[in-house]
Amino acid sequence: MTFEDLKLNPAILRALKDQNYIAPTDIQQKSIPLLLNREDVLGSAQTGTGKTAAFAIPIIQLMTEDQQKQNGKRKINALIITPTRELAIQIGESFKAYGKYTNLKNTVIFGGVSQGAQTRVLRSGVDILVATPGRLLDLMNQGFISLRDVKYFVLDEADRMLDMGFINDINKILAKLPREKQSLFFSATMPKNILDLSNKILVNPKKVAVNPVSSTADTIQQQLYTTNQKDKNDLLLHILDNPELEQVLLFSRTKHGADRIVRNLQKKKIKSAAIHGNKSQNQRQKALKEFKAGNLRVLVATDIAARGIDIDKLRYVINYDIPNEPETYVHRIGRCGRAGEEGVSISISEPEHNAFIEDIEKLIKQKIKLVSNNPFPQTEKPMTHMEKKNWEKEKQRKKQEFFANRNKKRGSDKPGFRRNKR
Ligand code: AMP
Repeated sequence: MTFEDLKLNPAILRALKDQNYIAPTDIQQKSIPLLLNREDVLGSAQTGTGKTAAFAIPIIQLMTEDQQKQNGKRKINALIITPTRELAIQIGESFKAYGKYTNLKNTVIFGGVSQGAQTRVLRSGVDILVATPGRLLDLMNQGFISLRDVKYFVLDEADRMLDMGFINDINKILAKLPREKQSLFFSATMPKNILDLSNKILVNPKKVAVNPVSSTADTIQQQLYTTNQKDKNDLLLHILDNPELEQVLLFSRTKHGADRIVRNLQKKKIKSAAIHGNKSQNQRQKALKEFKAGNLRVLVATDIAARGIDIDKLRYVINYDIPNEPETYVHRIGRCGRAGEEGVSISISEPEHNAFIEDIEKLIKQKIKLVSNNPFPQTEKPMTHMEKKNWEKEKQRKKQEFFANRNKKRGSDKPGFRRNKR
């Protein structure tokens, strides 16, 4: 199938040529015809599948058709909400790229930076708004944004959104949207709470699913090192002794862990930086730019901060911690070996994470290759699988309790109180 087969207008086809897109991806082939037919869509797809273009292209096409009938000041006709600043920026860039030969104007708003530049653009009028929930509500409450004219609504990465505690914000945003609209809902995973939320938004949705999250690309070679907790840093340095690892995206479960890893690497003169929710927007953008330019060898990221970052030709991903949700592992290693390129994922498991490896192997239906040539082998005993599960459950309960108490204390109406942190 070609983009021409999807009956896209010449302005969009020309822009796609500029992007060197040759053929639509699976999710694009499935979603674009439905969306052009003005259906609501429930999409199960993760970053890296081309899902942004799957919704951006038909929205641009429908809006250009609408535009011919409209005149007067631009109004926000399309709203895309997404959990992180990085994703918001990337979606904004996609709209700009695919719509470059149309007369549509888009802007992106997110927290963590001053609002002046954002409100100036909003005042001048935009057709498409890409936003993170906190800043959107904040500017709505201040009267800079009205959602009265929204005809196309996209909720992107819904699972992350709930994970980050945005449910109240989303409900408030939904309450301000017009009843008549076309809605799209994307999530990498579809547990019950996500389906319940989608039912609130979508009307008779058509379902599209691609690359179930349990599948890992065959082009990614997966390796596993088991070690003791105290030896992880030395093992990492040993792994990085291999000069083939020219550039590495390294995942850490926590912000503090990420900072600690960077400090340890810098001590050994390995150029590295961390991106996570405690870093300012500018710091994150700078780190990403430096990494893309090849000036950093290791970019250390938490899962949420890494969502949506798109690094061409990345070959190596290191899991310094093993994620407790097996789907997260699939997301992480999907960052390398994109678009058919070869990739290598290297996972480091301390005793307490061994059980997570078992969960991951069950999900991906394959064994991760254990590296035997390991100078720091695991000698300590892990908790049993059951002990681990209970420990995780308790941690999850405490996290939810923390969010509930925090939201109660701060008052959920207070604008902008919640920032995208992790
Ligand atoms: P996404 O899943 O939206 O984050 O997209 C992942 C990457 O795929 C981005 O770098 C897009 O620019 C790229 N992409 C999206 N659609 C296509 C396509 N049809 N052909 C080639 N690359 C694409």
